[in-house]
Order: sequence, then C-alpha cells, then structure tokens
Amino acid sequence: MDDKLQNYPTDEFNLPDDVLDKIQQNIEEIIMNFPVAQGDKLDVIKKINFMYTRTRHLAQTDELTGLANRRSFDVHFDMEFNRMQRYERNLTLAIADIDFFKKINDQYGHLCGDFILKEIAYLFFENFRKTDMVFRYGGEEFAVLLPETNDNGAKVALERLRKTVENYDFTYNGKHLNITISIGASSKKFETMEEFFEQVDKALYKSKETGRNTLTFA
Ligand code: GH3
Ligand code: MG
Ligand code: MG
Repeated sequence: MDDKLQNYPTDEFNLPDDVLDKIQQNIEEIIMNFPVAQGDKLDVIKKINFMYTRTRHLAQTDELTGLANRRSFDVHFDMEFNRMQRYERNLTLAIADIDFFKKINDQYGHLCGDFILKEIAYLFFENFRKTDMVFRYGGEEFAVLLPETNDNGAKVALERLRKTVENYDFTYNGKHLNITISIGASSKKFETMEEFFEQVDKALYKSKETGRNTLTFA
C-alpha cells in the first residue's frame, strides 16, 4: 500500500477522488492476478464496485428517513467549517428538534412516531437548496448546514421550514396531528467547531424555553 493510503485516517469514509481511484486500481490489480476465469473478471470488478458503493451509501445514510446520518454530519461539518475559515466564507449551522415528540410516541405509538419522522425528513429535504445539507442528527433532531449563507438568508429558509411543519397536515390512521419544531441556528465566525455547535445547541434550548415552535439565532 502506498504512503498516501496508509496515512489516511481509517475512520474516514469520505475519501478524496484520487485516493478512491488508487483503491479501485489496487482491487482491480488483485482481481487480475486472482484465479478467476478471464471472461468473468470484468463481472467480478463490477460486482465489487457495486458492493463498495452500496456499503458507502449505507454508512452515510439514516435507515428510517433516508437522510444523511450523524456520521455524515461529522464529516461535512468538519469540511464546511474548514472551508468557512480558510476562505472566509459564510456558513450557517442549524439544529432542529421536534416539540413534545415523546407525547406522540406515548399517545399514538412508536410506528406513528416513525411515520412523523419520515414525513418531517421529507419536509426538510424539500425545503432547502441542493447546496444545503440536511442530516438526521439523532432521534428526533435534525441538523442543517447552509454554506454561503448568513443570518438573513438562513432566517428565510428556516422560518419557511418552521411554518411548513406547523401547517402541514400529518395524518396517521385517519387522525390529524399537529407537530411543531424548535430551531437553533448561527452563522457567527466561531473559533472552533465545538463552540459553534454548542452555541447553536444553546440557541435551540432558548427556543424550547421561550415556548417552542420558534427559531433562535445565537
Ligand atoms: P421537547 O419539546 O423538549 O423536545 O420534548 P420531547 O418529548 O420531544 O423530548 P424528549 O427528548 O423528552 O423525547 C424525545 C423522544 O423522541 C424520545 C423518543 O421516544 C423519541 N424518539 C427518538 N428517536 C425515535 C425514533 O427513531 N422513532 C420514534 N418513534 N421515536 C423516537
Ligand atoms: Mg431531542
Ligand atoms: Mg424533542
């Protein structure tokens, strides 16, 4: 294995294209020297490529909602934060949490809770630009990264999302449910990712304290 592959962190799945190319070349080389019938070699390479792509997708995806998962958030937050600092760009981080979600589970059951999570994930997905990134951060918490976006731009998109959820007709087994979300956000130029996340989290708690169904900027 060459140095570039060896020095790369092993928990990193978001490998740069040149490293991916190198891995693929290595695999192809191994298959070429493996006792596989000559005519089947291309087929084997195709199958391995398919399995690799599928595994990569599963590692980044939340099974229930189909959104990018927490692991993916950690990678993208790191990349976008570094980009923001290095090139002095804007970046907004937002975290949203469903209000009184435990009540939904308790009153209507976990399947209903899962249904709501899927519906809300879709509303998040629909609400933002293609260049924004939506993640299921945890149980009923979602994170959004909005590159090249300051407070003013983020406010428009996040308020629109808050209102969309508030007005959306969630119907489960013929029952109409009202769901709201609380959001914390910031586009301040924090020194560290930890501080950035912590301040956004605090803003979210402020939204909870001040009555929920609210957007607060740190
Ligand atoms: P708050 O407004 O303060 O956020 O109240 P809450 O009830 O939403 O907050 P709490 O943290 O007490 O409850 C979160 C609930 O989310 C608890 C758990 O039952 C539910 N939850 C987390 N993940 C899942 C999931 O994958 N499926 C379902 N159905 N429920 C989930
Ligand atoms: Mg929560
Ligand atoms: Mg909640």
